[in-house]
Amino acid sequence: MKEYPHIIIGGGIIGLSVGWQLLRAGIPVEIYEEYSAPRSGAGWNAAGMLAPQAEAGYEEEALFNLCNQSLALYEKFLEELSEDVQKVVVPKLYKCGSLLVAVTSDDIKTLERQNNFRTSIGYGGKMLRGSEAREREPLLSPKVKQALYLEHDAQINNRKLLEALLEAFINRGGILHEHSHVDRIISRNGIAEAIEIQGEQFQTSGISVAAGALIGKISGIDSVGIRPVKGQMISLKGDPLSQLQHLIRSPRVYIAAKDDDRLLIGASVEEQGISRSITAGPIMELLHYAWEVIPLVYELEISELQSGLRPASRDHCPIIGGSDIEKLFYATGHYRNGILLAPLTSYALRNEIVYGKKMERFEEFSPQRFTNKTKIVEEIV
Ligand SMILES: Cc1cc2nc3c(=O)[nH]c(=O)nc-3n(C[C@H](O)[C@H](O)[C@H](O)COP(=O)(O)OP(=O)(O)OC[C@H]3O[C@@H](n4cnc5c(N)ncnc54)[C@H](O)[C@@H]3O)c2cc1C
Repeated sequence: MKEYPHIIIGGGIIGLSVGWQLLRAGIPVEIYEEYSAPRSGAGWNAAGMLAPQAEAGYEEEALFNLCNQSLALYEKFLEELSEDVQKVVVPKLYKCGSLLVAVTSDDIKTLERQNNFRTSIGYGGKMLRGSEAREREPLLSPKVKQALYLEHDAQINNRKLLEALLEAFINRGGILHEHSHVDRIISRNGIAEAIEIQGEQFQTSGISVAAGALIGKISGIDSVGIRPVKGQMISLKGDPLSQLQHLIRSPRVYIAAKDDDRLLIGASVEEQGISRSITAGPIMELLHYAWEVIPLVYELEISELQSGLRPASRDHCPIIGGSDIEKLFYATGHYRNGILLAPLTSYALRNEIVYGKKMERFEEFSPQRFTNKTKIVEEIV
């Protein structure tokens, strides 16, 4: 009997990571990507911060733990990538930490509150005076009054990571179909059987949906409440700011120096539906807030204006795992943490698809938390 491949919809950071890990486990995989991989998804325009400690939100402890677990898997993930890549560079993991800075008295209160919360979950940071922060980062403005140093955060060059994942996927025998928008998933008797592209059907042994923020355009499946949240970002020619040692954040902006001479200033958070347009307001504000923290920003040349669509679920947690339809798996909803969560997502989904094993306490991230609710409502009605 013909062995059909496992099909992945979407050649972004999540689709490539999952596809590559399935190939390493001996499963044939084909990725269908609407545009071209790896540049079309939000991951190409992300900042590459691996920052669970800075991102930790009140009432988001489960997500925080998941992000921490994924960060702990990063070194293993990159080692495995080195085994499968020859041409491109496998990016380095920079354990740089985050420096959250306060310019106004409101900012200081915010930092104190944030540190109290982090301390309560065992991840408190170190409060620094402005002068101490400038000893660590001499380019910080004299306006910086206090800072919170969070030592656990890291960063990576997400563009190099995407290039490496694509090469690893191809080297392991993966097949990439570009300019192929998957229109529909076809299921029979509750089992996913095929995808449909412009009326043509392709049989499969299983499907993983990694279409990011655009999952709603695929018919035949529940879009699990995913909405696109636009982020705009500015890339400056980094030198001399590429010397920054930490990820820098104020409550209004972050600044990340990458190892390819880019200095990223981000990012807006906008509910605009499917629009990637670059608009003056957010760009102006981001530049202003970055200048407030690091005045030298004023002098630097703009090399790129970027935007991307973060895939956000209703609870802002990712949606990973098998669904109510047999052989249909989701890997979406990574919102602000898709680069950070790529290792964990790919290992978890591989374990479920290949070995039938689910991670402990993973129900909090399963698709059923949304699809079951729909069913309950239907039953009541
Ligand atoms: C400005 C910005 C900054 C960010 N910074 C960070 C950060 O510092 N750290 C971090 O961890 N995360 C960050 N993120 C979030 C991260 O980029 C996303 O969570 C991540 O890209 C989601 O990965 P994905 O593969 O699910 O989606 P995407 O990267 O968007 O990839 C989805 C792919 O699926 C394709 N596709 C969609 N529909 C179809 C279809 N029907 N058929 C075929 N192909 C299809 C798309 O073309 C796309 O290539 C940032 C995001 C933005 C916008």
